[in-house]
Amino acid sequence: MISVDEDLCVGCAMCVPYCPEDAISCYGQAHINENCIDCLACLEYCPVEALKETVLEN
Ligand code: SF4
Ligand code: SF4
Repeated sequence: MISVDEDLCVGCAMCVPYCPEDAISCYGQAHINENCIDCLACLEYCPVEALKETVLEN
């Protein structure tokens, strides 16, 4: 899953248009909703690297 690092996200919304699933909304900070399919496309568009892939460990 994708998470937003709240300490890094500056709410610029640059990531929003790059999500093919409309899974990112941005009100002050980015928020990932249930539409996210973990395509990882958004990660490279955040200028402050606030979007992270969270790997769940067993
Ligand atoms: S991983 Fe893909 S589907 Fe999920 S928020 Fe990022 S761009 Fe959208
Ligand atoms: S591009 Fe990065 S800093 Fe900008 S709203 Fe998205 S997650 Fe936050």
